[in-house]
Amino acid sequence: MPIRVVSFDMEGTLVDHAYSKQIWEGDIPALYAEAHGLPLEEARKRVLAEYAEVGEGQPEWYDVGYWWKRLGLPHYWRDLPKRRKEECNVYPDVPSALTRLGKRYPLIVCSNTIREFLKIQLECIEYPFSRVFSAPTDFRAVKKAPDFYQRVCEILEIEPTELAHVGDHAEFDYQAPKQLGVKAFHLDRTGELNGEDVVHDLNEFAGRLL
Ligand SMILES: [Mg+2]
Repeated sequence: MPIRVVSFDMEGTLVDHAYSKQIWEGDIPALYAEAHGLPLEEARKRVLAEYAEVGEGQPEWYDVGYWWKRLGLPHYWRDLPKRRKEECNVYPDVPSALTRLGKRYPLIVCSNTIREFLKIQLECIEYPFSRVFSAPTDFRAVKKAPDFYQRVCEILEIEPTELAHVGDHAEFDYQAPKQLGVKAFHLDRTGELNGEDVVHDLNEFAGRLL
C-alpha cells in the first residue's frame, strides 16, 4: 500500500537531546539539592538512581509532574520547559527534509516526550505538523509497544502499512512499529549502523519515500 502519512520521533530525530538533558539531569537534580539540603553531586547521583528505578519502559519516566511529587521538589514546574527553550537545538537536516516530504505527505510527530516539552520543541522547529502525539500525555503509555502505533493509525483512519515512521530508538521507533506493519526506519546519526531500514540523516529518509 502507498504511504499516506509520515511520522517523526522528536528527540534524537528532529531536535537533539540537550533540552531534555538540561531539565532532567541539570535542573531537577539542582532543585532536589536545594529541597533536601544536599551537595549537587550527591543530589544528582540520587536523582539518577531514582530515574533508573522506574526505567524508560514506564510512562512515569517521562512525566515531570510525577517526578516533582516523588522527589519532593520546590516551586511550580510549569515554567521550566519555557525557561530552557534556548537549549533546544534543531538538527540541520530537518528544515529541508520536512519541506521535501511535506510537499507530498501530511507530517506528524509521535513522541515519548510529554506535551509540555513538545510544545517548546515544536516552536523551535516551526513546521506546521498535521498531528502531534505524545505517548505519555495522550495515552499514558510508552511507544515501545506496537499498540501505541495502532492507536495512532486508528485516530488517523489509516492502515499501519500506510504509515512511515523514523526515529533514533531501535525498539521504540523501529522494532515496535515494524512489528505492526508500519514502514519504519531506524535513524542512526552516528553513521555506525547499516541495514535495509537504517538511514543516517533525514534527507536520506526523505529520499527513501520520494
Ligand atoms: Mg528519540
